[in-house]
Amino acid sequence: MGALPVFRWRLAPDGYATRRQLRARGLRPGGQQVAAQLERPRRRREPLVAYLYRIDAAKPVRPMTPAKRAALAKANAARRRCPECGRDAGYVIPVSLGMCVSCAFPDSSAA
Ligand SMILES: [Zn+2]
Repeated sequence: MGALPVFRWRLAPDGYATRRQLRARGLRPGGQQVAAQLERPRRRREPLVAYLYRIDAAKPVRPMTPAKRAALAKANAARRRCPECGRDAGYVIPVSLGMCVSCAFPDSSAA
């Protein structure tokens, strides 16, 4: 990788954005190399540097796929299932109890 073009702070050309700015547009660098850098001079210190990516090479933030969503739902369901009674408690089983509240406190559910 050769020397990157360096721009002064606030003088970045159109078409470049920092990772954060990309994110605000729903974009991600998408595997591209840093295209340029911004430098903000600071008194008696190293300049602040921000890396810029090309907006035209950016990719949309990966949307959640149905398979990913299903896997997540399954994982959540597993965390809600009580190992004691085998029912979906409707909430994540507290690690401290290791079972649903009705199993941990059988008396209180009758009240
Ligand atoms: Zn239970």
